Amino acid sequence: MNRSDRRAANKDTQTYYWRRGIGLNDNMMTLAFLTRRLINILDNKDNAFRASDVANEAQAAFERTISGDAPPIACAKGCSYCCHTFVSASPTDIFGVARHIRDIHQADFEAELDRICASEDNTRNVSQDARHDGRQPCALLIDDSCSVYEARPTGCRGWASTDVIPCQNWADDIPVPELNRESRGAIDHAVWAALKHHGYSKISYEISQAIRVALEDPDSEKRWLDGEDVFKDVRIDRSVTDNKLFVVGDQLMDALIDGAFDRPMNFRVGA
Ligand code: SF4
Repeated sequence: MNRSDRRAANKDTQTYYWRRGIGLNDNMMTLAFLTRRLINILDNKDNAFRASDVANEAQAAFERTISGDAPPIACAKGCSYCCHTFVSASPTDIFGVARHIRDIHQADFEAELDRICASEDNTRNVSQDARHDGRQPCALLIDDSCSVYEARPTGCRGWASTDVIPCQNWADDIPVPELNRESRGAIDHAVWAALKHHGYSKISYEISQAIRVALEDPDSEKRWLDGEDVFKDVRIDRSVTDNKLFVVGDQLMDALIDGAFDRPMNFRVGA
């Protein structure tokens, strides 16, 4: 591809990204473009909120991606089966939620923190399986509604169901629309790729405890960005780090970093 062809392709990619989010399957250009945007956000060391800004960018890309061809889903306000289990999120999503809580609870922050801590105390030492079997809620759930809905993590956005019956029955096989599942996975990898480029690890943390940690110290985001392991005592989601697809995910992240810097991407979806 010569330089003018590459310029035209880049323009098409950007137009697609801003209008429709990321393309899936054989379209990795938009995902690489998102990766570059996230890397650029993290590049700005003067921005003490660049981790939560990464979450905002990724979540907006997810919403654009599913908005065009969104399949009908059974999820509705007040339906919270999927919030009654072990839920994990990336550090960027956690700081995005914490920032949102600080914004909307300026007048009653201490009371909200007390509420979250009391809820989190109930789940602190409960195993991942027991948490699921006991249907224990996320600390951010209030009256069966997500109290941070606008800032909820990408994982929560992606976990939709076309049928409420399997959710009610606590079935293992929830019918999550393919578009939601794949968009969530792809965008998560763009986030992990940007974090990897900047030297951060791919770790997902139990959300209630991690939010508590992020809220208890107003400088937690800055300290984490500076390399401090502020989540060292928080339960890790082993399904993310120990997943047999982890190697594939790592290759995808490397390919996205290459694509972000206009290098050939050595990765084929489904390979
Ligand atoms: S953050 Fe919101 S959507 Fe996600 S599990 Fe918690 S209450 Fe549910």
